Amino acid sequence: MRRASVYLSLGLGLVVMACGAQQSEEASSSDAPSNPFGLFVGEEPTTPDKTEFYEPVPPKVRPGEMGLPPSDAIVLFDGSNLEQWKSSLNDGPADWILNDDGSMTVKDKSGNIETKEHFGSIQLHLEWRSPSEIQGSNQSRGNSGVFLQGLYEVQVLDNNDNPTYVNGQVASVYKQSVPLAMASVPSGEWNSYDIIYHKPEFNEQGEKTKSATVTVLHNGVLVQDHFEILGTTEYIGWPKNNAHGDGPLILQDHMDESRVSYRNIWIRPLD
Ligand code: MG
Repeated sequence: MRRASVYLSLGLGLVVMACGAQQSEEASSSDAPSNPFGLFVGEEPTTPDKTEFYEPVPPKVRPGEMGLPPSDAIVLFDGSNLEQWKSSLNDGPADWILNDDGSMTVKDKSGNIETKEHFGSIQLHLEWRSPSEIQGSNQSRGNSGVFLQGLYEVQVLDNNDNPTYVNGQVASVYKQSVPLAMASVPSGEWNSYDIIYHKPEFNEQGEKTKSATVTVLHNGVLVQDHFEILGTTEYIGWPKNNAHGDGPLILQDHMDESRVSYRNIWIRPLD
């Protein structure tokens, strides 16, 4: 059981984060990213629960329908093969399971897969489905994720009747931004994500001069609204901001029995 004072601190921290986001829009682009944990400043996170909080819980919203690729999109997966992807573990062929229905499914503990092509700023559409047969709980139920430039995770999770820390729930920017709504369809049905992502910028000294931003529609519902990404989405520890160039799109194997499926993945580079 977490201490009440910790909840209070984290709650206040969230308020600080909201205010900080507003202020940062008015500040110069060279300002350092704000710290989302407010009163946790100075306390080094040494265990996962130091960077997890449970309130406020986003309201549930009923979603709409799926989209089709526009004519200028790069189709990364249309159900026919995994040729645009490779294993993140060994650079070999992506060996997730190719299904007859035009989808692919995480193969247990085979590791993440990533696009062979690297991207910067993008518009991305994909559809994902958690297993209808419920297995695991909390972060071990239908956990996958979409890593933008290979570094910044938009969480995929079966959150139906499965509470977890809200900054790690479905459609969160992992451990950074709580989604504005919980818009999942029932477990076993297809969800869509439409993501608009603008890459961060760095100067010649390797310092970040502009934060990445991300907007996410979950089943057509706005859940991330031009959020300024604070840095890498770490499981333990603060976000990192080492300079980097374009990167792959990574789909996560959570290394348990989450068995999330994907279909209809297309991307439009915005650079
Ligand atoms: Mg994940």
